[in-house]
Amino acid sequence: MNRPEHGALIVFTGPSGVGKDTVLAALRELGYDFFLSISVTTRDPRPGEVESGAYRFLTKAEFEKLIADDALLEHAEYLGQYYGTPEQPVDRALSEGRNVILKIEVQGALQVRARRPDAVLVFLMPPSPEELERRLRKRGTETEEKIQKRLAASVRECAMADAFDYRVVSDVPELAAARLGEIITASRRK
Ligand code: 5GP
Repeated sequence: MNRPEHGALIVFTGPSGVGKDTVLAALRELGYDFFLSISVTTRDPRPGEVESGAYRFLTKAEFEKLIADDALLEHAEYLGQYYGTPEQPVDRALSEGRNVILKIEVQGALQVRARRPDAVLVFLMPPSPEELERRLRKRGTETEEKIQKRLAASVRECAMADAFDYRVVSDVPELAAARLGEIITASRRK
């Protein structure tokens, strides 16, 4: 039977505000095709986010049903809200030969590694703590209290970066995207 080559499963992690979306947009600009997993979450949507389709927003009960049904590849609590990756769309895309990117936080990344040893874990590092704070503030969607919580979480997250297969510095988006692209290409060949 003529089966398509299996795609690479890439976990892309980094503190809130570090520039994951910017780097992924630059990766598309470079001509890389990938399936970006759509997460489910119980947090409130930011303005325009429902329409953007970046997340499926669920109630706590709906989310807990997905956990009970074992429908999530991973899930984690981040600042009091649930976030998770529905497993089926990921498997479908991989079996179609597409590269899959999961844009998730640290605890979820480590769960994926345990469940899928073939996954490749990439951590996007801020150039400096000061630059991360500047980027988080620039987004302008968070209250001061939420910014402080995200900054505290970022310190915990960056302390875990050594557990990842690759660390990429989020400095110039095009350069970070090119590095990520190389990692994806190398992972497919493995
Ligand atoms: P935000 O609220 O800023 O959209 O996301 C907060 C954090 O949750 C970010 O680090 C983001 O990457 C992460 N995240 C988004 N979706 C998922 C998911 O499905 N699973 C896990 N574990 N983390 C996620």
